[in-house]
Amino acid sequence: MSKYSEQELRSAVELLVGARDVTVLGHLNPDPDAFGSMVALGLALRQRGATVRVSFGSPDELPPSLAVLDPGELYLPASQLPAEAPGLLVTVDCASLGRLDGLAELPNATVAAGGAVLVVDHHVSNTRFGTHHLVDVSAESTTVIVLRLIDALDVELTEPMARAVYAGLLTDTSSFRRAKPVTHEIAARLIAAGVDPDATGRALIGTHPFARLRMLAAVLGRAVFDADAAHGLGVVFTSVQLDDLAGLPAEEAESVIDIVRSTGEAEVAAVLKQVEPTVWTGSMRAVGHVDVNAVAATFGGGGHRFAAGFTATGSLDEVRDRLFAALAQAPLV
Ligand code: MN
Repeated sequence: MSKYSEQELRSAVELLVGARDVTVLGHLNPDPDAFGSMVALGLALRQRGATVRVSFGSPDELPPSLAVLDPGELYLPASQLPAEAPGLLVTVDCASLGRLDGLAELPNATVAAGGAVLVVDHHVSNTRFGTHHLVDVSAESTTVIVLRLIDALDVELTEPMARAVYAGLLTDTSSFRRAKPVTHEIAARLIAAGVDPDATGRALIGTHPFARLRMLAAVLGRAVFDADAAHGLGVVFTSVQLDDLAGLPAEEAESVIDIVRSTGEAEVAAVLKQVEPTVWTGSMRAVGHVDVNAVAATFGGGGHRFAAGFTATGSLDEVRDRLFAALAQAPLV
């Protein structure tokens, strides 16, 4: 389990203390950990007097469920960002440049213009792009690393900051089911700072549009279970196609994996989501025996050992066959 050095922490804090203008980017289709990290760090830097904007490569608008995390309106659509970050660019919860999607050129442009790029992340697959790194693979969420930065910057932990940190913890620990004792202590501190766990959890993961029910009916209706796949440990699989998502925000596809993974017979759950006619993003979850980070890596993706994703091109049948072939070769833990 690799964790940043004291020297790396000091230089990250130095960078943030000296920055007057900061752009904070998260990964495409941000989850509460990515967006919570962006907002919590953004609010801390704004409290110190810096000009801050936060954004992500796609979609070009804030997913409705995440609006609850941004009362300070730090979010700016990617299409409205300057071509380079004047000063400092920070990426959070991004394992690789590709996760920035349409903004993947921004780090190079920022360095070329004399700026710095700080990478704050907890993914085992982090490629260490950028000029400065704060990567802790043992951190349960990127927001926990951001909380350490907030403390190191000596800014007051306000309720909106605490809410954003809590959001990442909540979703990256499967609603605290995989949280270490110290993580519950962090949650207690966040609640003491004013976070409402029920309202925050309901807004982030417990509220969906009615049209989602028909999408789920179609998507779950074609789910398949293959008992022989992944070394005989079992794989449950389905796809979310463009037609399924008509009239729904793209983020509604993200919750499908959490329903599919509840299949007791399967070690691995896998969902392919169609983003263009022949472009698919894959999400995988494993109970605890199959290294799906390694499977995702065969497609150029990554993530965590038991939760990972990738992008692939081809027909649905082609991509699914490649996925099952990779799962047949997957390293066991
Ligand atoms: Mn995360």
